[in-house]
Amino acid sequence: MPLGFSDGAYNHASGTRNAFGALSDDLVREGHPPMVSRSGDREPADQLRIWYERMTLSPGNRKVYGRKWWQGRLWYQIHPDAVGIPDTSNHEKRRSNDLRAPYNADTAAARRAKELAKRHNITREGENFRELWHWTYWGPLGTIGAPAPAPAPAGGSTNAPVPKEDDDMLMLNLHGIGTATHKVALGPGIFRHFIGTDPYEKIKNIARIQDDWQDVSYTELPALLRTYGCDLNIWDWNPSAGGFCILDPLTGTVKPGNVWTASGATRAAIAGIKLPALDPAPIVAAVRAALANGVRLDEKAIAKLVDELQKKTDG
Ligand SMILES: [Zn+2]
Repeated sequence: MPLGFSDGAYNHASGTRNAFGALSDDLVREGHPPMVSRSGDREPADQLRIWYERMTLSPGNRKVYGRKWWQGRLWYQIHPDAVGIPDTSNHEKRRSNDLRAPYNADTAAARRAKELAKRHNITREGENFRELWHWTYWGPLGTIGAPAPAPAPAGGSTNAPVPKEDDDMLMLNLHGIGTATHKVALGPGIFRHFIGTDPYEKIKNIARIQDDWQDVSYTELPALLRTYGCDLNIWDWNPSAGGFCILDPLTGTVKPGNVWTASGATRAAIAGIKLPALDPAPIVAAVRAALANGVRLDEKAIAKLVDELQKKTDG
């Protein structure tokens, strides 16, 4: 049976279509539901059209819902719905499908699908950026063209709630203190710090974002966190702990390599877990002042400035 499609989704690459169809067949043979894609190919021209509809360089007085870097410039989202950065998505490369339940979450069927997917050159690419519904085929694309019409299987048009696709993970180089930069990923409700042992280049390459790391200063971090629905007091700068640190709301730890998520923070609040109080505002202020004065902050200088600022606010 071919891969099912709903909501007008399609795969025009025969390689992608056949690989997902064969994986779906394997699953059905083991008693799991067939796979149904609710979003497959995205035409690059459509992506660009939607980008220009929803994003602008000069928002004027319009309401701004978010901001994204594209081609080295900051664009403002003036439409309530987000749009992925053009020409970066494996949907545009005709390789990805966003699958419906039960392959859109951490379910037994999806875990089995992940194992069987290997033999079809498919991975659950989205699990690296918390989009468990996003699966990608990595083999030859084959013939590009409209497939023979395929009926949506039973259940394919149910209105099961599906998490919103977020194509807008930012991969950032944080700088402003000394010569070191810190690599972080920022997406809706998620802020992750990468350390040396993390495969961050690989994660960056498969995340559907611009090819390059974006350089941002610590002074821009509060606005970025706010834009992406993250709390502000979730990071710190502590030389003795290794420099840049993130709060993990599930463990209450503040250290390099941590991940903060909005869902984790909610769970911690529900569970009544007491989290350490962080206030990165003095660090931001110190970096801002240093940048304004053309001073390069080193680790000692920032510690001293933060100290002074703290004294000022205390006294
Ligand atoms: Zn997707």
